[in-house]
Amino acid sequence: MRALVIDAVRSTPAVREVPAPSAPDGGVVVEVRATGLCRSDWHAWAGHDDIAFPHVPGHELAGVIAEVGAGVERWQVGDRVTVPFVCGCGRCAWCLAGDAQVCPHQQQPGFTHWGSFAERVALHAADANLVRIPDGVGFATAAALGCRFATAYRALVGRARVQPGEWVTVVGAGGVGLSAVMIARALGARAIAVDRNPTALELAASLGAERAILADGRDVPAEVAAITGEGSHVAVDAVGSEQTAADAVLSLRRRGRHVQVGLLPPVDGHPRVPMSRVIAWELDLLGSHGMAAADYPGMLALIEQGVLEPQRLVERTVSLEEAAVLLPGFDRSSAPGVTMIDPLRG
Ligand SMILES: [Zn+2]
Ligand SMILES: [Zn+2]
Repeated sequence: MRALVIDAVRSTPAVREVPAPSAPDGGVVVEVRATGLCRSDWHAWAGHDDIAFPHVPGHELAGVIAEVGAGVERWQVGDRVTVPFVCGCGRCAWCLAGDAQVCPHQQQPGFTHWGSFAERVALHAADANLVRIPDGVGFATAAALGCRFATAYRALVGRARVQPGEWVTVVGAGGVGLSAVMIARALGARAIAVDRNPTALELAASLGAERAILADGRDVPAEVAAITGEGSHVAVDAVGSEQTAADAVLSLRRRGRHVQVGLLPPVDGHPRVPMSRVIAWELDLLGSHGMAAADYPGMLALIEQGVLEPQRLVERTVSLEEAAVLLPGFDRSSAPGVTMIDPLRG
């Protein structure tokens, strides 16, 4: 099969023929129809994760089951499926409680094994992790859920428990941030988008951000305070840097809730967080790590009803060859919206 291969940390990605995977026990092989290009793939390419090379990245995928391994009960060849980027073992106490996103034995396609920047990908513990794509939902829409959209959904719904009328400050208007804006709006909250890219802010406004703040060195928390009076109820750092995390935390009102979604790899040094404010104002600091398959039905229902439209985040579809060119520059990519890969596109 054709795949996008990384041979070493920060090497130029190449598209070439590699052996196709076979279905593991309890797992399946999926023919990939759409797979998102994500900043996490860039982290893997840049050596921020513990990865064996050569490696095939890709973790936001949707496709059709091509092969079913021994012991799989719920799935058949031909089923249209997607999967969370964190795949739980399906057997531990966390998985059985519906919290596969923190499974200690988790697998992540594109990190712990070869991912979906390929014509085919193997997925483990299929009965626990696969999610059926409703008939009315396309592959690109489903692939857009697996990491960024589902993560934003869990951050706001499952972690921050956003309420109607609350102010939600979203720092970073990339895939996660734009998803968070759309979800906040659907929940009846009032979103403020923060980004250094004016085009990304325009996109955020079109998706429901009530206000936008250009992060061009200005005092973001002061701007949020001027808009909201006392600061926002909820803040999301959708970028992952000391500056964006601090901007998000300091834009909160007293007793506000911060959700950290953007990755802060230790290679960059541990970020300084304004903990004195966290204590004095009784702020909640929450982490969010994807979303378990068990929580997908509620989100999928809102997508089928048209309340949430993740497909509006997809700005472009590219081939594996084009993705190989885009991947090394993805940390400083200024292209807003989600880039989707069609592995079958020549
Ligand atoms: Zn588990
Ligand atoms: Zn991702």
